[in-house]
Amino acid sequence: MSIDEPRLELCGRVLGQDPARVSVARAMASGRLAHAYLLTGPEGVGKRLFAEGIARALLCAQSTQGKGDPADVGPCGACRACAIPLESHPGYRVLEAPAGGAIDIATVRDAITALALRSGDRRAVLIDGADSMADPAANALLKTLEEPPPGIVFLLITARPAHLLATIHSRTQRIPFTALDALSFEKVIEPFTAEVDLSAWSDGDGDVASVLHRIAGGSPGVATRLLAGIEACGGLLRFRELLRGVGAERPASLIDYLPALPKETVRARMHRLLELVQYGSWGERSADPDARRETGERALLVAELIRGLGGGRSTEITLEILARVLRGASAEEVARSLPRSFFATG
Ligand SMILES: [Zn+2]
Repeated sequence: MSIDEPRLELCGRVLGQDPARVSVARAMASGRLAHAYLLTGPEGVGKRLFAEGIARALLCAQSTQGKGDPADVGPCGACRACAIPLESHPGYRVLEAPAGGAIDIATVRDAITALALRSGDRRAVLIDGADSMADPAANALLKTLEEPPPGIVFLLITARPAHLLATIHSRTQRIPFTALDALSFEKVIEPFTAEVDLSAWSDGDGDVASVLHRIAGGSPGVATRLLAGIEACGGLLRFRELLRGVGAERPASLIDYLPALPKETVRARMHRLLELVQYGSWGERSADPDARRETGERALLVAELIRGLGGGRSTEITLEILARVLRGASAEEVARSLPRSFFATG
C-alpha cells in the first residue's frame, strides 16, 4: 500500500473523497491530528461516516496512529474499544439538531463537561449539522476551541459552512468533500435501485443510476433519501403531483403526501417534505433555460423555508408559503403576497 492508499476502514469505508482520506491518514500517522476539524461539502457524500471513521480510529486502543505509516492507520477492529458500538463508547459524543430544530447550548455544555471528566483518554465529539447550532451554543463551543482540552478531537460537519461563525472557521482545520463521480456514486447506490423506475425523469436516455447522479448532484445520501421519499409518497406519479402543486389550494393538506413515521413530530415531517420537494425539483428540471432558472429559484426558496423552519417558523406558515411556491409563485411574488411578519423566524 502506498501513502496514497490509506486503508478504506480509516474513514468508514467512504468511497471517493481520496484527498480527505489521505490528509487525515497523514496527520494521524504523524501523530499530529488537529484538535478540531470542519468537514464541509454537499449533503450526503459521506462526511458523517468519514467522521465516525476518524472517531473509531482515534478511540481504538491498538491504533497505529503516530507510528509514521499513513497506509496503516485506522481502527484495529479487534480490541475492546473497537468492540464497543461507537454510539455507546464513553469517550464519544454526538451532537445533532432534531429535524427542523437547532443544537442548544445545554447539549454542547453537557457533552464537553462529560468528556472533560475523562481526562487522559482520547475522546471525540461529533457535531453533525454544525451550522444548526444556536448562537449561544456556537459561542460555548468557540470558548472550548480557544482552549482545547487535551485529548479531545472535535469533528464538525456542515453542508453550509457560510452559516458558521468566522471564528469557528479559524479555529478548525477544514476537510473539503466533493460530489461523487459517476462510478463511485453508482457503487454506493446500487443496492437501492433494483426495482426503481425513473424513466419519467430520464428524457429517454440514461439508466436509473445516471438519472439519479444528475438529480442528486453526485450525492448518494440525497439519492437514497429521494428514493425513500418517492416510495413514501406512493410512487413517482404521486410525488410529481406534489411537485406540480396538485392539492396546493389547500396548503394544510400538502403534508399528507408524506405519511408520518412512528413518533415523528409535525416539524420533522415538514422538514422531510421540504427536503423532498427540494431534491425532486431537480428531477423536474427541463432543458429549457427559463425553466431551469425557475427550478434554481424554487430550490433556493425551499432552502430558505428549511432554514426558516429550523429557526422556529411555524409549520402552518411554512406550508402556506410552500403551497405558493408549488403553484409557481416567484420569490418576489411570495414575498409580496405575505405580510413581512410571516417571514420573521423569532
Ligand atoms: Zn481497536
